[in-house]
Amino acid sequence: MSHGKFDHIMFKGGVHPPEGKELSNKCEIKEAPLLDKYTVILQQHIGAPPKPIVVKGDEVKKGQLLAESGGFVSAPIHSPTSGTVSAMTEIPGPMGAKMAAIEITADGKDDFESPFPPIEDWKAIDPDELKKRVAEAGIVGMGGAAFPTAVKLSPPADKKIDCLIINAAECEPFLTADHRTMLERTDAVLEGTAILAKILGVDKIVVGVEGNKPDAIETMSAKAGQYDIKVLEMRVRYPQGAEKQLIYAVSGRKVPTGGLPMDVGCVVQNVGTAVAVQEAVVEGKPLFERVTTVTGEPVVNPGNWKFRIGTPLSKVLELAGGIKHQPGKVILGGPMMGFAQKNLDVTIMKNASGVLLLSKEEITQFESDPCIRCGKCVDACPMNLLPGTLSAAAENERFDIAEDYRVMDCIECGSCSYVCPAHRPLVQHFKRSKAEITAKRRKQ
Ligand code: SF4
Ligand code: SF4
Repeated sequence: MSHGKFDHIMFKGGVHPPEGKELSNKCEIKEAPLLDKYTVILQQHIGAPPKPIVVKGDEVKKGQLLAESGGFVSAPIHSPTSGTVSAMTEIPGPMGAKMAAIEITADGKDDFESPFPPIEDWKAIDPDELKKRVAEAGIVGMGGAAFPTAVKLSPPADKKIDCLIINAAECEPFLTADHRTMLERTDAVLEGTAILAKILGVDKIVVGVEGNKPDAIETMSAKAGQYDIKVLEMRVRYPQGAEKQLIYAVSGRKVPTGGLPMDVGCVVQNVGTAVAVQEAVVEGKPLFERVTTVTGEPVVNPGNWKFRIGTPLSKVLELAGGIKHQPGKVILGGPMMGFAQKNLDVTIMKNASGVLLLSKEEITQFESDPCIRCGKCVDACPMNLLPGTLSAAAENERFDIAEDYRVMDCIECGSCSYVCPAHRPLVQHFKRSKAEITAKRRKQ
């Protein structure tokens, strides 16, 4: 058994919100039935939008390329089923603004045609070929960030990488998709991890799992040794799964202010991403579906589903049995870092880790009052920031002050918002400050 317990290195701050995972952590992953129609948003990643290579009326197969990569930091998009391109359209995106999308009307056959062949013996293949496959398959960070994975696997020559960390903390309350994936797709997670390690040329490979998933730790540990992978049990504390906190917990290395994991020799990937890499390499399958948790008290049948990209949230909720009563909020992602949705026409994208419904009672706590200077946010901040001060600066549009007080180091984990007794919209303030500062820097 390859299993260790790393509870001696603990990041400062953080919070322990109610987990809510019991609603779905025993629910096996179900395959969502084929829909009549999918509307696939083009921009599903950070970086340049992909360029469509199909037009209205084209017949497509499942897995066929719909849009090619738009640059180095970009990712292609593949069809979630076979059928016809019925519209080049626009639909609301998760942030509210309309986004370009391709509508596929299914032919019901679900014929798969791989755009690339399976690689039978990946151990014998050049790492650059494997990385090319990751790029061609449209794989992006599936934990939420949606950064193109092949770019993360291409550090500059002066950055020596010696450690691959698989982020299996799944520290966001309510989400259990990674947990179930580790239990049900153990070999795929481990083999995908081994492929990622070969691309990076590293032999220090660690899967970090929070201690609230003992069955996943046991199942993964039982097989990890075959792949020379170590499974580490981590203390349960939000945001244990934030990259900088995870790296510190696993290796004791501190990512410097404004720095990246590669600055301390680490690359972090998510559980779902490892599975997507395994499927792209071993099965020749591009990324067009993912496991998503659908949960929350208002949901009739919370659980985990494998949804194709382009599935509307209205269908997601229908598959989960509908709702018991009108929710106060629908969130794409988890309660700490997810985005509230107003429109159920928004569709599942590659980074959709969860669809969470909160009741009206659960969200009344988010109504905001003035700051009472209690300092709780300072204690909770894992990045040693002064959230109350940063929030006041943002409210007064003094983004220069926010910059001086290191708002750019904020990882948007939401711990400060969670503990704030005045329910201040702190993270929104920081997101705005960061956007303003970034815009100013670009101009300069
Ligand atoms: S200021 Fe940023 S990093 Fe600190 S607790 Fe708040 S959201 Fe997290
Ligand atoms: S926790 Fe909220 S009320 Fe307390 S100091 Fe921070 S922002 Fe102000």
